[in-house]
Amino acid sequence: MSTKTGDFPGGLHLDGHKALSSGRPVEAMPVPPVLVFPLHQHIGEPAVPVVEVGERVLAGQLIARAGDYVSAPVHASTSGRVAAIEKRPVPHPSGLHAECIVVEADGDDREASFEAPGDFDAMDLSALRNRIREAGIVGMGGAGFPTFIKLNPGPQGHIDTVVLNGAECEPYITCDDRLMQERAADVVGGALIIRHAVGANRCVIGVEDNKPQAAAALRAAARDGVTVQTVVTRYPAGGEKQLIKILTGREVPSDGLPLNAGVVVQNVATAAAINHAVSEGRPLIARVVTVTGPGVAEPRNLEVRLGTPMADVLSHCGADPQAVGAVVVGGSMMGFAIHDVASPVVKTTNCLLVDLAVDDAEQPQMPCIRCGACVEVCPQLLLPQQLYWYAKSRDFDKVQDYSLFDCIECGCCNFVCPSHIPLASYFRFAKNEIWAQERERLRADRARERHEFNLARKEQEERERQERQRRKKARLKEPADAAEPADPKKAVVQEALKRAQARKEGLDSGTEGTEKRQ
Ligand code: SF4
Ligand code: SF4
Repeated sequence: MSTKTGDFPGGLHLDGHKALSSGRPVEAMPVPPVLVFPLHQHIGEPAVPVVEVGERVLAGQLIARAGDYVSAPVHASTSGRVAAIEKRPVPHPSGLHAECIVVEADGDDREASFEAPGDFDAMDLSALRNRIREAGIVGMGGAGFPTFIKLNPGPQGHIDTVVLNGAECEPYITCDDRLMQERAADVVGGALIIRHAVGANRCVIGVEDNKPQAAAALRAAARDGVTVQTVVTRYPAGGEKQLIKILTGREVPSDGLPLNAGVVVQNVATAAAINHAVSEGRPLIARVVTVTGPGVAEPRNLEVRLGTPMADVLSHCGADPQAVGAVVVGGSMMGFAIHDVASPVVKTTNCLLVDLAVDDAEQPQMPCIRCGACVEVCPQLLLPQQLYWYAKSRDFDKVQDYSLFDCIECGCCNFVCPSHIPLASYFRFAKNEIWAQERERLRADRARERHEFNLARKEQEERERQERQRRKKARLKEPADAAEPADPKKAVVQEALKRAQARKEGLDSGTEGTEKRQ
């Protein structure tokens, strides 16, 4: 399938269902009595607690530091007391519980003091990235990758274009739409900071053409060369690679990153959070969440403190958390069902979709009939039916030959499959298996290296022990050999005695002979 600049291949025209929640302004949700902060709300290593049970905390106070370079710190989103550090339900498809810091709110909502660093233009770039890191900012479009890393192209990298992703192409979700309408100045402020941080000369905000008010608000707020461009409303126009193609005409190489095309992409909510972090010194402690779907009496967009249990959010929107059916986090195409509404809102929670009719999921899966519909809609120009075949048979080499890792898990292939095959789930499974095997291989490599190192160390220790013994023996031997020359006077005396004895014996024998001759 050929493509032209300003467009991308495949994709779907979907019913957006956005009017359910897009008409009302963002409302601040009250602070709940108990908040739960997972240590792992991002890609990378979990954060490490820096508070103890019983300690009092303030809104914006650091409660867990980044666990590694690829990690992000966590901050309390209100004032209160640390009630526990323990495993709790978290929003993850696995349904597993994970380590969380639990804070009982004191109702005062007192803030820590924040230090605004001043003019970002004057800041050292590494200090600027560090400020963004310390604010705990990660990709808020759902990816959760620590933002400061994406803002560091490294010595070899070159970024000339910043793309802000305001496409919001998933059905039902409208949180970015409302944010762009109501906080356009924050989005543009963040765009300028990002452009400065990566040294780019161009910054464009891409907005799907079904959000005219958002595009207008951004255009009114745009300054210093930031531009706003509307893009076709076709799912998944908001995929990173698709948006880059639409806005710049550039292709991100297979297995490559936007950096390889000279571009960095950030979500508009992430840009607004960057603006707060740099201009006001505020960490990320709240986000806008769309709460929508047939199971919600009053769909809307709420500004929710991070750590708020989803059950509280649902109650606030007129849904009985104990009576609702499926709650999907994210949109209908790429979201996942949560297992427990006690799970909290985290940095990546953009939408709670309640009681969505899941007709397709209830359809029995049938064999592939090789109709090719999945190929037609794939925006990554992949062969989903081939990928499915090899993923199902666990042929993980072959599945990579068919560019599995270029799959963006958009779900377009699922959507059109007449056999109701959950293709994207197979691809997610195959990726997870390959990553698990890779992790296992790395673990085995490290274990082997450790074993070889230990062996080498023991051999070295044995060699050193033997050398020490050899030297010790040599030292013990040396004094005996060297005893005579060690006391030269004694040797002289002994020699003299020997000579005297010899003379004496000689004289004695000479006298004897003389007497006989006489
Ligand atoms: S759409 Fe479904 S049935 Fe058709 S080729 Fe793809 S996997 Fe097979
Ligand atoms: S889920 Fe993957 S294979 Fe399926 S259409 Fe999207 S990119 Fe293509």
